[in-house]
Amino acid sequence: MLDLIYETPKVKTISGATGDWELVIGMEVHAQVSTNAKLFSGASTLFGAEPNSNVAFVDAGMPGMLPVINEECVAQAVRTGLGLKAEINLFSAFDRKNYFYPDLPQGYQISQLYHPIVGEGEVLVELGDGTARTVRIERIHLEQDAGKSIHDMDPHMSFVDLNRTGVALMEIVSRPDIRGPEEAAAYIVKLRQIMRYLGTCDGNMQNGNLRADVNVSVCRPGDYEKYQATQDFGHLGTRCEIKNMNSMRFIQMAIDYEAKRQIAILEDGGSVDQETRLYDPDKNETRSMRSKEEAHDYRYFPDPDLLPLEIEQAWVDDLGAKLPELPDAKKTRFINDFGLSDYDASVLTADTADAAYFEAVAETAGDGKLAANWVINELFGRLKKEDHEISESPVSPAQLAGIIKLIKADAISGKIAKDLFEIVYTEGGDPDAIVEERGMKQVTDTGAIEAAVDEIIAANPAQVEKAKENPKLAGWFVGQVMKATSGKANPKAVNQLVAKKLAE
Ligand code: ADP
Ligand code: MG
Repeated sequence: MLDLIYETPKVKTISGATGDWELVIGMEVHAQVSTNAKLFSGASTLFGAEPNSNVAFVDAGMPGMLPVINEECVAQAVRTGLGLKAEINLFSAFDRKNYFYPDLPQGYQISQLYHPIVGEGEVLVELGDGTARTVRIERIHLEQDAGKSIHDMDPHMSFVDLNRTGVALMEIVSRPDIRGPEEAAAYIVKLRQIMRYLGTCDGNMQNGNLRADVNVSVCRPGDYEKYQATQDFGHLGTRCEIKNMNSMRFIQMAIDYEAKRQIAILEDGGSVDQETRLYDPDKNETRSMRSKEEAHDYRYFPDPDLLPLEIEQAWVDDLGAKLPELPDAKKTRFINDFGLSDYDASVLTADTADAAYFEAVAETAGDGKLAANWVINELFGRLKKEDHEISESPVSPAQLAGIIKLIKADAISGKIAKDLFEIVYTEGGDPDAIVEERGMKQVTDTGAIEAAVDEIIAANPAQVEKAKENPKLAGWFVGQVMKATSGKANPKAVNQLVAKKLAE
């Protein structure tokens, strides 16, 4: 099996008044674990439930309540680690990160500071232009989400909804290997795709189930290579962290803004303060939220209510053996087995439902390239018009394969196939039967086509003279014959006959 080989993307430089600059980005992605219950309680994780209806005593920080770890959350973190080719730590432990916030009734968040469950891994980030960069993962740890404070429901009061309190999050920390806004977005896209394949996070950014803290710094060309060679952060610039981003577009805009801001400071002879900033999409700027000096002292310590988490290699191996086929492998297989282009394979593997649909069509129709064409250009295009998902497609894989088979058998022309697709899409039905009933079959009977050709030639002697001198004009006759047969004549046969008759 052929492997995908990519070139490393070129790092874009930003030219300033004093020379060129480069971007360095590292991300901390918070991904909500897909499970029915919370990390340490049996309360439901259902989104959009009545406020404060999914809250166990332990989530509400009631005195004397004890957390009990949810095995499925641990399994999901391990699956995610395996999907990112990461080291799984058989020993991990939970720590308390202490701080006060109205939507954090415990007074601390349970996280894994010192011993995360997942260690080093990597993600192949494709940029869609034939280049890709490997971004290293530093760690993934499990932690609790906080609740939600609502300030805009009443002019005098704030409300607290604890439904999300204690829901399991995976914090996925990358190394600072991302080199630009497009790469940052592509990194999130790939991470999200892998987790959706694994079923470990639904990746819904609108609901806040996937959000990113984006660390940005700038350096001079050559400095990043020095960092790579030594892993010494001293070669990189001071970073700022842009908190809680949940839009692909805003992530890119915030990085752009932040890079320019830092360059302006540095070129002015100043220095960048390491701080946490917030992005304001209305003004397209980032603003300081807190500096490192005023950073919280979280007084981390091992949670005395929870034993260290020890898992067995055999359990990890079992989870690994049951992992589904992942995006890189599926894409490679589609390229190898169905002869697809890198681009088509990427489009068709973006989502498992799309991939499964395509595969069913390709196998039934016995033609991967035609199937890819029809799924991407006709079906996806048509679904998009009505804002439909593949799961809502009125055309089944069997029906689409039926249409493709008719094309392959020369029973219908490409043009008629599009009409047929529209009929199947809007009215349903079996493609074979529709073609039969509505007389859409391509005329391959050369006798009938010949009669039509003769008729057109006889009726247009002047055109015939011209076409004899300039063979390019034969196309006009082909068009006339197609018109006369309402598009049902086999174009190949028409072309051959017209050429033959004109040469007589
Ligand atoms: P902290 O302990 O302050 O959270 P970490 O070392 O955990 O810092 O790094 C947090 C994130 O910042 C990581 O994703 C890392 O890759 C990124 N990062 C570290 N240094 C830089 C830098 N100079 N520029 C951009 N990102 C950086
Ligand atoms: Mg950190």
